[in-house]
Amino acid sequence: MPKPICYSTKAYSAGSASAKLGATTIDRREPGAMDVQIQILFCGVCHSDLHTARNEWGGTMYPAVPGHEIVGRVTKVGGSVTKFKVGDMAGVGCLVDSCRRCPSCREGLEQYCETGMVMTYNSPDPHLGGPTLGGYSQSIVVTQDFVLKIPANLELAAVAPLLCAGITTYSPLRHWKVGPGQKVGIVGLGGLGHMGVKFARAFGARVVLFTTSPGKTQDALRLGAHEVVVSKEEAQMQAQAGSFDFILDAVSANHDLNAYLNLLKRDGTLVLVGAPEKPMSIGAFPLIFRRRSFAGSLIGGLPETQEMLDFCGKNGITCDIEKIRMDQINEAYERMLKSDVKYRFVIDMATLR
Ligand code: NAP
Ligand code: ZN
Ligand code: ZN
Repeated sequence: MPKPICYSTKAYSAGSASAKLGATTIDRREPGAMDVQIQILFCGVCHSDLHTARNEWGGTMYPAVPGHEIVGRVTKVGGSVTKFKVGDMAGVGCLVDSCRRCPSCREGLEQYCETGMVMTYNSPDPHLGGPTLGGYSQSIVVTQDFVLKIPANLELAAVAPLLCAGITTYSPLRHWKVGPGQKVGIVGLGGLGHMGVKFARAFGARVVLFTTSPGKTQDALRLGAHEVVVSKEEAQMQAQAGSFDFILDAVSANHDLNAYLNLLKRDGTLVLVGAPEKPMSIGAFPLIFRRRSFAGSLIGGLPETQEMLDFCGKNGITCDIEKIRMDQINEAYERMLKSDVKYRFVIDMATLR
């Protein structure tokens, strides 16, 4: 396939696992018939960006341009695009394409594409070769089927993190049918966790937030938790034993999963969305006693991501954010590692121009 015509755009990239991110210029393809070109206005900062930039999961292709919580304005559309017109607001999350033919794709679960989805960054780029390059940039071109519509009533910068942190917590809460009459735990009050609290509350559950940071207690209650447990306090953990229907674990670092399995009722489920770098051990006994389940969940497909955005529009739900300049990204990563994020950094992309 001949390489498409390209244009260049400013971006921020990591050159190696140990390098700081810095300014660069990257190529984007000129929009093809089905493509939408978006001027990126805001991009959220996910812990996965940091894991990838620093090659904590292995397999990072450099230079790496992270960023998969993208919102902006449509600046150009291909001749066959029907969903968007120039000037519309649009969003792009963690996926920019998939095979579209396998059973998962046909069910709208493109994140579980059986032949391999194309992620927004660090996937082989089917158009340009090399890795796909993410949202820490001024402009991106994505096929219309993987571009989301943004509710007009929400603050744009605070919508950006819905594209990953939002859908990653919304999807498992929906899949496991969390709702009224259930006691639900959310572990870790970071970008994902704070959206988990908001959604679990919006779905009508009783919400308990587990944190290692006692200073986040008041915020957790304001965000929608009915109760806060400081997980380092053994007595507080003991008091919750055997009482949860469902627990969503959104922690970015290794920790003791058995402590949370023990908090589940009979037939309760612990779902992992956090993706720490090293394997974590699970004892047989916390699982086999009380027939508990342990599962994982990956972001969400395109139909469910649109459903989540529409739900947020209807219910006035956005993320709690701290806007940063592009050149503050390295400092933001350091603060993220200290759990010092309230509760998502969002890059104002005007600062890259
Ligand atoms: P984040 O904003 O940095 O939040 C992580 C939170 O985990 C922290 O705020 C902290 O909460 C808690 N934490 C950190 N270190 C801890 C430790 N050593 N022990 C216990 N708790 C600790 O990260 P994020 O962006 O929400 O992402 C969370 C994880 O989910 C990352 O691993 C990310 O890669 C992964 N992720 C997965 C998916 C998916 O599809 N499954 C999608 C996006 C992200 P407290 O201060 O409250 O304890
Ligand atoms: Zn993410
Ligand atoms: Zn597929």
